[in-house]
Amino acid sequence: MRRVIITIAAIVATMFSTEAQEIKNIIYLIGDGMGLTSVSMMMIENNYTPTIFDKAENIALQKSYSLDNRVTDSAASGTALASGHKTNNTMLGMLPDGTHTESLMEVAAKRNKATGIVVTTYLQHATPGAFYAHVASRHEYTTISEQLLASDIDIAIGGGMAFFEERYDGRNNALNAIHTSGYTLIEDINDECDSDRIIALLAPKEIESRTGYLATATTKAIEHLDRVDDENGFVLMVEGSLIDGMGHGNNAVGQQAEMRDFMEAVEVAVAYAAKRDDTLVVVTADHGTGGLTIISGNADFNLSEQGVEYHWATTGHSGELVPIYLYGTGTELINGIMENSELGAMLKEIVATR
Ligand SMILES: [Zn+2]
Repeated sequence: MRRVIITIAAIVATMFSTEAQEIKNIIYLIGDGMGLTSVSMMMIENNYTPTIFDKAENIALQKSYSLDNRVTDSAASGTALASGHKTNNTMLGMLPDGTHTESLMEVAAKRNKATGIVVTTYLQHATPGAFYAHVASRHEYTTISEQLLASDIDIAIGGGMAFFEERYDGRNNALNAIHTSGYTLIEDINDECDSDRIIALLAPKEIESRTGYLATATTKAIEHLDRVDDENGFVLMVEGSLIDGMGHGNNAVGQQAEMRDFMEAVEVAVAYAAKRDDTLVVVTADHGTGGLTIISGNADFNLSEQGVEYHWATTGHSGELVPIYLYGTGTELINGIMENSELGAMLKEIVATR
């Protein structure tokens, strides 16, 4: 009996200390199409020297299926990760009955936290869109463009100028619309800008040519968010968007390059969190892509090392569990096997209450 009481007291003490801990900032990094085998491939390519994934302080797994399909697309999984609600494939920030879901960024803005989005694809794409847009179809790019300009996002860095030009009928009108919305546009990542609201449109659509881009953009976004709201903290979402495309194309070497780019951004986030005691870093994927498997170069794997081969099972998405890696403050809050929507709901709860 005494032991039971002591154990309960210890649990309560742990809960108390956990609740007392302030999580001011969340950096949420999403590898689009980064299944567990994509991470395993990087471990092999790194000769098992620990990668940033090996350095996680806690890990969990999540189930990515959507409301209407065991294999999700990036819109439904993005909505779950951003809002805590599963929805049908192709729907963005919206439930099947048309109800709008509230995203992590919208909750953060209500709490006067600064918010940011950094991607390698266009800002109107499914994963970033899930954090600010509400449309029945992820392909409504012109509507999504409008919704971005109407959003409370403080800094958005990626591609997507082409969709603004389409929506506003030409470049000059697009520039006007961006200006009227209160955003300052930059078109080179190295441009200095002291505006509070920045939109960096670095390409018509995806950002194809970019050495070290994602780490640089992540650094820039963190600096901006720290500057605009030092007191209430921030929520930043960073997407390694093109890991997915390399999976669709069954291109292992290309996916390794995209993964390295993403891992550099994770390094930036983890280094930032390590210098403080108020920042949670969450790294996950929206789904696997390509059905990547890692097999021995010789079917008789009882032999010594025969090399490994990367094989792909599909040019579409896959339905396996995807990993969650946690760093910084509050890593003990996220554990075990969860729904993608549970992870989104948990992060919203943290932003709403801490
Ligand atoms: Zn995809």
